[in-house]
Amino acid sequence: MGYSSWFRQHGEKHRKIMEKLTHMSDEEVIAYFRFENMVIHEPDFCPLYKENRKCHETDLLNCYLCACPNFRFDDSGFREREGKTLYSYCSIDSEDGSVFESKEALHQNCSACTVPHHEAYIRKHFKRDWFAIMKRVPPKS
Ligand code: SF4
Repeated sequence: MGYSSWFRQHGEKHRKIMEKLTHMSDEEVIAYFRFENMVIHEPDFCPLYKENRKCHETDLLNCYLCACPNFRFDDSGFREREGKTLYSYCSIDSEDGSVFESKEALHQNCSACTVPHHEAYIRKHFKRDWFAIMKRVPPKS
């Protein structure tokens, strides 16, 4: 699956959950998206939930802003770098991010970065419309 189809499908899953939570305050919504609650009540939101496994080993993991507003992708590639195609990068160049390199491709590796999973960050960027928060992530159409 390319970035675009994952992005659309994940955003639709987020939208469906949010349609159920209209009676909740913003703080209650944020609490609902904590890993421990999501595993129980939204098992289809993330494939890792079935194994009760976190994408990042951190005590308080919040899934509201998965993927990340700072992520940028283009399934057609942004540019060539040293003979490889760059498909994604971090717009804030997070010090915990890195680059995953294959023979022909470069991808942003967020596995050591927890920026979008902290609740202070989520509060700062909070909107009920996930696509609005993520509007700069996909390429402009
Ligand atoms: S490295 Fe961190 S801040 Fe950058 S895109 Fe990945 S998760 Fe977001």
